[in-house]
Amino acid sequence: MTDATTAPSRSRDLDKLLLRPGNLVGPIFDPGTQLREDLKEYVRILVVGAGGLGCELLKDLALSGFTNLEVIDMDRIEVSNLNRQFLFRLEDVGKPKAEVAAKRVMQRVSGVNIVPHFCRIEDKEIEFYNDFSIIVLGLDSIEARSYINSVACSFLEYDSDDNPRDITMKPMVDGGTEGFKGHARVILPGRTPCFECTIWLFPPQVKFPLCTLAETPRNAAHCIEYAHLIKWNEVHGGKAFDPDEPEHMKWVYNEAVKRAELFGIQGVTYSLTQGVVKNIIPAIASTNAVISAACALETLKIASGCSKTLSNYLTYNGVEGLHIKVTEFVRDKDCLVCGPGVLIELDTSVTLQKFIDLLEEHPRLLLSKASVTHRGKNLYMQAPPVLEEMTRSNLSLPLFELMGKATKDIVHVTGIENKDDKKTSCLRKLRVVFKGIDGIMDMDMAGGA
Ligand SMILES: [Zn+2]
Repeated sequence: MTDATTAPSRSRDLDKLLLRPGNLVGPIFDPGTQLREDLKEYVRILVVGAGGLGCELLKDLALSGFTNLEVIDMDRIEVSNLNRQFLFRLEDVGKPKAEVAAKRVMQRVSGVNIVPHFCRIEDKEIEFYNDFSIIVLGLDSIEARSYINSVACSFLEYDSDDNPRDITMKPMVDGGTEGFKGHARVILPGRTPCFECTIWLFPPQVKFPLCTLAETPRNAAHCIEYAHLIKWNEVHGGKAFDPDEPEHMKWVYNEAVKRAELFGIQGVTYSLTQGVVKNIIPAIASTNAVISAACALETLKIASGCSKTLSNYLTYNGVEGLHIKVTEFVRDKDCLVCGPGVLIELDTSVTLQKFIDLLEEHPRLLLSKASVTHRGKNLYMQAPPVLEEMTRSNLSLPLFELMGKATKDIVHVTGIENKDDKKTSCLRKLRVVFKGIDGIMDMDMAGGA
């Protein structure tokens, strides 16, 4: 137990933000010691990812006065993580990241409780995510971000005028780093663009055009890719290039050097060859620290209202000098994920099976292997087998009946989206409306209830 005289020193810096009124505060801000205590008691934060960024986030959030944290990560610690994932030690190699990260932060920051979850993000029930006040993302994959984004946005409800209901909004703070570059963004579903609204910010991986490689190389990477993609096949025929085979890598490096000399290009090294061929982007500890600090501060701002939140996308670039810029992106009004949901009109006779088939053909959805829930109730689940068996008999029943004869309501569907030859797990919110029913039906139901 800390007494009243020692408590302020622990939260000295935090108190400057939480105890005093200010000109830049948010509308909900109510300064005072009660606010500090409320953050400890009532705010629950989920950190997704316990890697380079996740380690920093857990430490920063714990030191920002949050005491109810949980972390989810499916990976185990590898030796190559140790240079920057500072919560891990050599003896931890092979152990789950989430568990070790939680333990280490709890050892160092008294009063904080961190619950680890060692599993895939898709393994948790959707409702698991609804328990948190704010979800903070420290991920390195677009697919995982996209999934969490769709889950958080699925909780968002709209009123009859299509305005988002604030109470159902699940705020997210998303961090990301790549070498000396990084971003931090605040996603308030329904108000600021969600991850899907601005998916174009993540362009497909840059591939050099083959004609450039073959005819007009301009830099060291072009020479390396020429050796790797063109020369290797010319010389070795059908033999596959193995990036983990040092002899292969050395051959590509030597060919790249020859090519570079021919065109008077500098900078081909063995490590650059490895980097280009394996597409390795080095992880930089300081970038993680900067981005995590920005994310933790935004989380504190959302939870306390002590300042207006970032609006809405911060980019950091430390490649040459240091640049930080904030861009205000706008929502995509037709977004499938954070919008009111794709409208689907059905006859009352349509069975659940028929509905699932429709989703696969729907041009905006292209969703296969669909599991369907309505107001938290499983109508049909593809997995696990026990649930599949329990819900299978629903397939032949009309969806209208299964939805309690509601004339229109939201249905959540998880499944596999097949877009641009890519299959990704996703969650979609659908607005199902039944055709050919008038208001009398509603009144009958109200009377009978
Ligand atoms: Zn969106």
